[in-house]
Amino acid sequence: MIPGTFDYHRPKSVSEAVALLADLGEDARPLAGGHSLIPMMKLRLAVPRALVDLAAIADLRGVRRAGTDIVIGATTTIAELIASAELAVALPIIRETALVIADPQVRARGTIGGNVANGDPGNDLPALMQCLGASYQIAGHAGTREIAARAFYQGAYFTALAPGEVLTGIRIAPPPAGHGWAYEKLKRKVGDYATAAAALVLTMRGGQVASAAIGLTNVGDTPLFAEDAARILTGSALDKATVDRAVAAAEAITSPASDGRGPAEYRTKMAGVMLRRALVRAAARATH
Ligand SMILES: Cc1cc2nc3c(=O)[nH]c(=O)nc-3n(C[C@H](O)[C@H](O)[C@H](O)COP(=O)(O)OP(=O)(O)OC[C@H]3O[C@@H](n4cnc5c(N)ncnc54)[C@H](O)[C@@H]3O)c2cc1C
Repeated sequence: MIPGTFDYHRPKSVSEAVALLADLGEDARPLAGGHSLIPMMKLRLAVPRALVDLAAIADLRGVRRAGTDIVIGATTTIAELIASAELAVALPIIRETALVIADPQVRARGTIGGNVANGDPGNDLPALMQCLGASYQIAGHAGTREIAARAFYQGAYFTALAPGEVLTGIRIAPPPAGHGWAYEKLKRKVGDYATAAAALVLTMRGGQVASAAIGLTNVGDTPLFAEDAARILTGSALDKATVDRAVAAAEAITSPASDGRGPAEYRTKMAGVMLRRALVRAAARATH
């Protein structure tokens, strides 16, 4: 339970962090809240020779507007997401999701950047970011780039982030005012990772679904963007037959592990149940 030895660096700017990571090579890792990385180091599942702590980089923290988009700095904590008045109005599903992540102690330290960069399929924010159509802003030695959350996840703990790159922010175009939203998470107890969870954003027009986006958590090696299910819902009045078809399409893309959270078949069904519950709540919240 004691990590191996490592050097510790605390840069003050993104450019300094990126230069350090380039100099130190593949054995160096960025450190954010440390709530995934430090336990992995204690178990010796991660043995970085150097940590580049992002905590002192003021530019990486906070929520800001960029035109009509919202950019959330990578080291903004999950607790800060919950407290943000701007997010509560423009992207209320973020607050709803953040409130069911872990416990207050973890939320006080864990960051949005660490949560989405880690590639843990159990984390709640990656599927939400796919649902919201978010883009990840990345800085590396070769410059900056932006990649869609829907293209970022390649396998459990494998992402499009190259060694030495730092996730600097998450850019989101908020859905229109009056949209409906819900994050439904089944967990065994408070503070647990999801048995299955569904993120849903929809807009309604004249009693019919004008648009829908769905993300699923912890029912595959990566977060899942349930594109077919959303397509089935679009144009419908959320009648039972259509909802049944959409739920079946969502369940069809899952491939959960059988583990302490239940057998694979159960977790697949629970993903469908979470989507059904999310549909009811999101539709009730949508004003047009
Ligand atoms: C008891 C417990 C329960 C939890 N329950 C949940 C839960 O229910 N739902 C949930 O979503 N999460 C849960 N978590 C995870 C937690 O919410 C954090 O999101 C998670 O620990 C990662 O965030 P962090 O800031 O601590 O990242 P760290 O642990 O510091 O880093 C995680 C990984 O991401 C990399 N990284 C971090 N920031 C960046 C960056 N800006 N750029 C590039 N790479 C980066 C690190 O190098 C490391 O590989 C739980 C954690 C614990 C300890």
